[in-house]
Amino acid sequence: MKITLPDNSSRELPEGSSGYDLAKDIGPGLAKSAVAVTIDGVQKDLNDVINGDSKVSIITIDSDEGIEIMRHTLTAQVLARAIKNLYPKSKLAIGPTIQDGFYYDVESDVTISSDDLNKIEDEMKRIIKTKSSITKKLVSKSEAIKIFNSKKETYKEIIINESDQQDDFQLYYQDDNEFVDMCLGPHLPNLEFIGSFKLTKISGAYWKGDSNNSMLTRIYGTAFNNEKDLKNHLDNMEEALKRDHRKLGKEMDLFHFQDEAPGMVFWHPNGWTIYRKLRNFVRKKLQNNYIEINTPQVIDRKLWEASGHWDKYRENMFTTEIDDEHANEKRVNALKPMNCPGHVQIYNQGIKSYKDLPLRYAEFGLCHRYEPSGTMHGLMRVRAFTQDDGHIFCTEDQIESETGLFINFLSDIYADLGFKNFDIKLSTRPEMRVGSDETWDKAEHSLETAIKNLGHPYRIDEGDGAFYGPKLDFVLTDAIGREWQCGTFQLDFNLADRLEAKYIGEDGKKYTPVMIHRAVLGSFERFIGILIENYAGKLPFWLAPQQVVIASIISDVNDYSLEIMELLKKEGISVDVDLRNEKISYKIREHSSKKVPIILAIGIKEKEARTVSIRRIGSQETEVLDLKNAIEQITKENRALN
Ligand code: ZN
Repeated sequence: MKITLPDNSSRELPEGSSGYDLAKDIGPGLAKSAVAVTIDGVQKDLNDVINGDSKVSIITIDSDEGIEIMRHTLTAQVLARAIKNLYPKSKLAIGPTIQDGFYYDVESDVTISSDDLNKIEDEMKRIIKTKSSITKKLVSKSEAIKIFNSKKETYKEIIINESDQQDDFQLYYQDDNEFVDMCLGPHLPNLEFIGSFKLTKISGAYWKGDSNNSMLTRIYGTAFNNEKDLKNHLDNMEEALKRDHRKLGKEMDLFHFQDEAPGMVFWHPNGWTIYRKLRNFVRKKLQNNYIEINTPQVIDRKLWEASGHWDKYRENMFTTEIDDEHANEKRVNALKPMNCPGHVQIYNQGIKSYKDLPLRYAEFGLCHRYEPSGTMHGLMRVRAFTQDDGHIFCTEDQIESETGLFINFLSDIYADLGFKNFDIKLSTRPEMRVGSDETWDKAEHSLETAIKNLGHPYRIDEGDGAFYGPKLDFVLTDAIGREWQCGTFQLDFNLADRLEAKYIGEDGKKYTPVMIHRAVLGSFERFIGILIENYAGKLPFWLAPQQVVIASIISDVNDYSLEIMELLKKEGISVDVDLRNEKISYKIREHSSKKVPIILAIGIKEKEARTVSIRRIGSQETEVLDLKNAIEQITKENRALN
């Protein structure tokens, strides 16, 4: 049979050859690192027979696919077996891979806690040491049910029963044939390929994610091909944990959530200060090019029907019903999930001409979206959020210049907030779309040309645009290398038309403007979460909610401390004094844990010389400045972006 390889070269192999035979035929090095194959686009076990002429590529252990298969085998064959060895009465449910790792859900007669993870790891290592090969048997539905029924594996039985499949259930065994798991595969050919791993945590999870079902124990792990990659990953996880905005939010007293308003933020004074500062900062940046507007929170369903949201987006919308005083019926409204239809209503007031374009509206619009409860995550994913939203109405000819203007605007804001690097992704036309090919050609070309002219790198995601237009996504990289998609620039050939927005062209005829949805931060809530994690809570001076604390060393300096506070307040600095009868080291520790950027320690020496001792967060050093200089310096730092 003829086997075509990824480089389009081909090889003749005898009928009945497997992926392993092919790897050997290509070279002994490849055979050594091969763990599976892709046959005509489908991943298969390495020892599966290749059926006739096909396109085949070999998956090696060091590829992304190879690592994924390794993690899969680790959970399904090693973790699952270790659990059965240690807890013979437990029942196995499912064990998929996830990003960087895997988990297994089990039902156990005894409580398995994180204290048991070491014991389970040891058992896993013992299993791996057998270097057992993994073999596959194909069985019919009834046989599969019989096998798992005899082992009292209730969940496996349910999975088989619910499957439409009648034959070829894949059962995987190790050399001693004692342990079996059912799986779509592929698996490693043997356990020698397992790399370095660590079990990371235990949590509860409902069978099939449904709270009416029984609660299972979920055991998480992570695995890489070598110790170095594993350690690197664990270090990053630990760093991310330290920076978790939910933890820091509590320590810095920024916000909380409660059950009465799931996914909606209760901003505390400190958190709201950050929010207001960030909003003022963006507002100032908008001044030159945008007109700020504001649109209603609650709008009749009729507008959402006209915009298409009622039809397509209704399950994500919060609705209200009120008695209409003028009719015998209830009036149904929705809380706005986005600001766009409202902006078109303002655009539609009065006749617009080509001379009015481009018209750029901005709104700090509070939106509500009903996100499923399982997806919410601190400030990162909420149900009520404020976008730094804006809509540009322009002609097709203006797309390119608007794109350039926006990218500069965005990179200026990101740089000021400390994010020097961001990537641009251009998503082009999908199969299903509105608008002529000519319009799409022109729009995609304009977007690309604008980015090229700025000399900014970008990548293209073919076919990933919305049905109503191509878009740019802006992804920034934080201090520990994580990527966050924040900004967006989305062309829309649909909404303005649906809501009958027009302008009079130079020729006196009516045209539909192009509408561009754009945001730089995305949502203030999420962006504040990103800022907190990026800076590990140590926000830039101008953004810090509590900027300076004056800490007295003895009570004799209380008057001088209060005098300094008044001077700083006059300069618009948020400042507090700590005159408590506590040790200075205690005071410094406490305010540092709240991430106050500057602590001024004041003792007799400072009072007599009219100086201050400045201590900055993250630094062990103390700088002594005379009072006037210190106030000047602090004021200057504050004005940098405020
Ligand atoms: Zn919009």
